[in-house]
This record gives sequence, C-alpha cells and structure tokens, in this order.
Amino acid sequence: MRDLKIPSQRHPEKAHRPDNAQPKKPEWIRVKAPTSAGYKETRDIMREHKLTTVCEEAGCPNVGECWSQGHATMMIMGEVCTRGCTFCNIATGKPPEALDVFEPGRVADAVKKLGLKHVVITSVDRDDVEDGGAEHFAQTIRAVRHRSPETTIEILTPDFLHADPDVLRVVVDAKPDVFNHNLETVPGLYPEVRPGARYFHSLRLLQRVKELDPTIFTKSGIMVGLGENRQSVMQVMDDMRAADIDFLTIGQYLQPTPKHHVVDRFVTPEEFAGYEKAAYGKGFLMVSATPLTRSSYHAGDDFARLRDARLKKLGR
Ligand code: SF4
Repeated sequence: MRDLKIPSQRHPEKAHRPDNAQPKKPEWIRVKAPTSAGYKETRDIMREHKLTTVCEEAGCPNVGECWSQGHATMMIMGEVCTRGCTFCNIATGKPPEALDVFEPGRVADAVKKLGLKHVVITSVDRDDVEDGGAEHFAQTIRAVRHRSPETTIEILTPDFLHADPDVLRVVVDAKPDVFNHNLETVPGLYPEVRPGARYFHSLRLLQRVKELDPTIFTKSGIMVGLGENRQSVMQVMDDMRAADIDFLTIGQYLQPTPKHHVVDRFVTPEEFAGYEKAAYGKGFLMVSATPLTRSSYHAGDDFARLRDARLKKLGR
C-alpha cells in the first residue's frame, strides 16, 4: 500500500487551521489491516496501470476488505483536487497536469484484468477544466463499456458547479448504470464542510440526471458525526426523495488528520439502523446506513439489489 503519511503541503488551505484532537474510535469502527493475497493483486494491477484510487487517497478504512475482492474505486483526472472540503483527505491545490487522454483506456484495461462485474469510478474536482471533466468521464465510461460490455458502471462525480449546466448531458449520454453524487452533509454545515459547493446545486444535479434519463439509477450519500442533528438528516432525506434519488448511503465521518474537520461524535450502530428504517419509510429503493458505509462499499452487491428493488416496484 502507498505510504499514506501526508506531506505538509498536501492541504495548503488547511495549514493555518488549529489542530483538532482526533478522538479514539469506538470498537464498532475497528477494521483489519490489509494483508490478503487478493489485496496485493489489486494493488499490483492499480500500480501496473498507473491508476489512482480513492481507497488509498482518502485513507478508506475498508481497503483491506474491498481490495481482497478486487473492488477498488478508481479516481480519474489526477490526484489533486481544486476544492478544499474540510473532511476530505485528497490532496488539494492547482492540478499540475492536464487531463491524461490515455487514462480512460488504462481504466478499461484494469477493469478487464480485475474481471469486475461492477466498477465504481470517481474523480477529483477539476474546476480548472472548462467542462469540469464531463467529457473525460464520458470517455472513461465508453472505454470500459467497450472492453467489458457485461460490467455495470457506477460513477461518483464532482458537481460540475463552474461548468456550463449542459455538460451534464455529456455524462448522462454515456449511460452509466448508476450516477452517484454525494451531498456529503446537511445544508447548514455546507459553509464549513463543503465551502466550495452549493447544497441545492448538488441536489438539482441529481434531479436533472433523472430527468435526462430515468433509466439511470441515482445515488447520493452523507456522512454523519460532523455536527448535524437527526432532524436535519431527515430533511436531507426528504430533499433527496423530492429529487427522485434512488439510493441513499450514510456513513460515519472519520477525521483523517488533526487539520481536518473535527469528529463531533460517533453515531451508534443503533442510530444508523434507525436512519435506515426511516429512509426506507421515505421511499428510497436502497439504503446503506452503517458506521463503515462508504459510497462504493459493497457497491456491486448493492447494485444487484437496487435493480431487483426497481423491478419489484414496477411489479415485474
Ligand atoms: S469502500 Fe470504496 S473507497 Fe473504501 S476501500 Fe472500498 S471501494 Fe475503496
């Protein structure tokens, strides 16, 4: 695994922030160290194809489990993000390079080699690129589809906030099976958690995906433990349902470094179960709400269940 020690310049916009103490994790958050042969094989394929993963860049706690099964979430468009969200461990700043035109092909080759039934592809934010990377996403989807026509494709996109609103159509026309864009937190916490984003823009983006192509599943997620309360989480669920979002994920926020947003609290597994029950009551087709839930955690199995849930709802 890549050395995850963070150089001081990794988050220049956070350097001036005071250190926040990192609370001890409760026993329900502990995960095993990644050591399996499958883990190593996945890592080697990522290195061979010069691919970046959000699993490593974000320091995801599930990497041992996911990679042992070949489930890596590839992160396209570079390793440097143009935003400065206070929860995120991806390096931030001005991306040093233009988009790599050969990257879609390398992603497609890696998906083929891993023999994935379902792949999740995400990216950094590229506000420096005119279309926010929409065409690059579309090319990656098409390349994977061409090399592995049986593989279902899930994308986890940035918000394309500074791009022309019509660029969304470019991504939708490439027909991913699942279009995921995370709201990340409740609207009241946006100024401190996602300062470069707008809550209603993200919500509207997901609604537009459904309007442009109702066959595409839409998915979104939030982290809890950032300082939200239950009522505001319920409001987010209602907003998501109003935007016709199919699949909701809720996971515990973990603080990557002392410079990142403080963990307000660890939400108990019982509270997560309560969120899951409430979300199904509000009409989501699928809900994943556990402390270790991440957007791409168990995404392949969840996609099969999501498809079944839609068919059941349609009475087929
Ligand atoms: S949950 Fe997602 S980001 Fe984390 S290791 Fe698994 S695939 Fe990677």
